[in-house]
Amino acid sequence: MPEHHEPVLVERVVAEAQGACRVVDGTVGDGGHAAALLERPGVELLGIDRDPAAIAVARERLGREVRLIQASYADPEALEAIRGFRPDFILLDLGVSSRQFDQEDRGFTFRPGSPLDMRMDGTGQSAADWLNDAPVEELQRILADYADERRARRMAREIDRRRQRHAFATSDDLVNAVRAVLGPRSGPADFARIFQALRIAVNDELTGLAAALPSMRDSLSPCGRLAVISYHSGEDRIVKQAFHSWARSCVCPPHQPVCTCRGVPLGRAIPRKPVVPEQAEVAANPRARSAKLRIFQVSGNEA
Ligand code: SAH
Repeated sequence: MPEHHEPVLVERVVAEAQGACRVVDGTVGDGGHAAALLERPGVELLGIDRDPAAIAVARERLGREVRLIQASYADPEALEAIRGFRPDFILLDLGVSSRQFDQEDRGFTFRPGSPLDMRMDGTGQSAADWLNDAPVEELQRILADYADERRARRMAREIDRRRQRHAFATSDDLVNAVRAVLGPRSGPADFARIFQALRIAVNDELTGLAAALPSMRDSLSPCGRLAVISYHSGEDRIVKQAFHSWARSCVCPPHQPVCTCRGVPLGRAIPRKPVVPEQAEVAANPRARSAKLRIFQVSGNEA
């Protein structure tokens, strides 16, 4: 039996799902949240994960009767399955699992000698291919936007200079490029930031998230809740902006002369501020460090 990692904000997630019978876990991972949600009698769960290895672990842990789909939650087939399920509660716990991170050959880490892979479902371009192929402007953009890197332009050029001599293949290639720009004082926090940005780009994570949220909202039963745990400012911004715009009374496009949405909010964010883990949880679980949970509740039938 594989060792399991603690799920982030698990008690809060379970509390928010109170009363829900049909639950979707769109990033089921090790099945930590799912197992906790299934402890309540009568709960029926649909689990989704992009990573076949995660599906195998979740299957082992949650048992045969739970429905599991290997897909991105943003794939049309997954969104269709969610719609058909008509959930009362949907959870997304974004990013990589501790298991994926700890598995050196998956290439999510900057430990020396790791391959630059980072593909969650093993398809498409690896992180190394991405770094070797991306136009310099694209490198600069992801470093600036996803890693908040002040020296994005210099770093993009440094990567470009290095890849022309020797194609990027391992974590060391990227760590050395980062060091060359940020200097000897750069360290794990910088590498973590840059590697996370690369992972988000390789898996096109923000596009999928932004595209999937409205469909998930519309799949919910009346008064149903969508809960999203994010670990990156870019992810959180997408969730926050979506929830804010859905809660506005008029959601017509700004240039539209007459309101056609009839001014009814689609629901509300509860609470208005994101929920973050307590100090003790952060100390016990490094994955909790940057976690932010936001919850949106859709209106009831006659709202
Ligand atoms: N809540 C889980 C841990 C989730 S970790 C637990 O308690 O065990 C995040 C998981 O999301 C990883 O397994 C990763 O493969 C998956 N994931 C990331 N992006 C995804 C996407 N677009 N669609 C489906 N799964 C995704």
